Amino acid sequence: MVNEKMRGLGAHRSVIRELFEYGKKRKAEIGAENVFDFSLGNPSVPAPDGVNKALSRLLEERDAVSLHGYTSAQGDAGVRRAIADYIAKTQGVEMNADLIYLTVGAAASLTISLSAVLNEGDEVILLAPFFPEYRVFAERTGAKVVPVLCDPKSFQPDLAAVEAAITERTRAIIVNSPNNPTGAVMTPESARGLADLLAKKEKEYGNAIWLIADEPYRELVYGDATVPYLPALYDNTLVCYSFSKSLSLPGERIGYIAVSPKAEEASAVYAAICGAGRALGFVCAPALFQYMIPEVLGMTADISVYDTNRRLLYNALTEYGYEAVYPDGAFYLFVKALEPDANAFCERAKGEELLLVPSDSFGCPGYVRISYCVTTEQIERSLPAFKRLAESYQKA
Ligand code: PLP
Repeated sequence: MVNEKMRGLGAHRSVIRELFEYGKKRKAEIGAENVFDFSLGNPSVPAPDGVNKALSRLLEERDAVSLHGYTSAQGDAGVRRAIADYIAKTQGVEMNADLIYLTVGAAASLTISLSAVLNEGDEVILLAPFFPEYRVFAERTGAKVVPVLCDPKSFQPDLAAVEAAITERTRAIIVNSPNNPTGAVMTPESARGLADLLAKKEKEYGNAIWLIADEPYRELVYGDATVPYLPALYDNTLVCYSFSKSLSLPGERIGYIAVSPKAEEASAVYAAICGAGRALGFVCAPALFQYMIPEVLGMTADISVYDTNRRLLYNALTEYGYEAVYPDGAFYLFVKALEPDANAFCERAKGEELLLVPSDSFGCPGYVRISYCVTTEQIERSLPAFKRLAESYQKA
């Protein structure tokens, strides 16, 4: 009667959403201040002032009919040009406005890109741990997901394992740096190594292997970490960008895909992206937010709160005996569960009103993800609960 695959996806929420819903129920029962909800990656700092100013200006100054009207399916030409110019200026990489496609956020950028390059039976490599929706987006195309674990000491890609996983059917690999759920930022050495490996394998098998760079956290980096720009290192790159996290605008749904002008048959790939956008109904991203982009490129929400939370949480948890790799970016801490089954550990954490996401659906069992995009006060108040949880294992 209905598409069973889609019914299954709709009937079973993701573990993250499930936990978020549990949190809402629990907060209604015992009060929001008594629940330590670390489930969602929903930015907790406001958008920069410049965003509201740009939106107000647009609403005041632009003709309302054209402001709210359809743009070209792939996005307004002037906006695409502004993005291409900004990338050229900040990354020193030539981009072409006619190879940029505006989308409703990174999720749409990814589904469109995967639909554009994958065919039934192709393989797509996911570096684990990975954002669980990648599996949903990739498998929808009929492609097979091939998870490859990162090095657990650094969460950098394990290049030998990636090499072993590439076959003649490999058509794409998704890279997410800064990473959800580990917070790891790919080092320049890892990026160079991966680019060289993919180029070698493309030559060996005689076909393109698309590097899909999922970059919603690009601007969320701390200390002196920098995020390598992959189109500078590897020709067959598709950048899937979103303003959701950098500008704290996840509900407004705005982002883009940029095809590297150096990509093999770049205009054919772009045509496939336009076709996938059309087939999926992702045409003409929200016009008001498109027009905002040229005015806000280069702005970032104030991420100093995330940085404070990162240090506070990492220092306290490692002092209590938890193990984690210190994150350089995004707003997640990936912590080893205190028992082999992360689900059982998360259930026990609920006894302390700590809502942590078990890592199984990230393709890397035995860990929990803590989203620290919350108030610093929530982190401070949750620390005794984390301490009691660790002690309960030490006593056992
Ligand atoms: N990719 C990763 C790694 C994410 O963490 C998220 C959202 O949390 C997305 C993509 C989707 O982002 P958007 O809200 O821009 O669709």
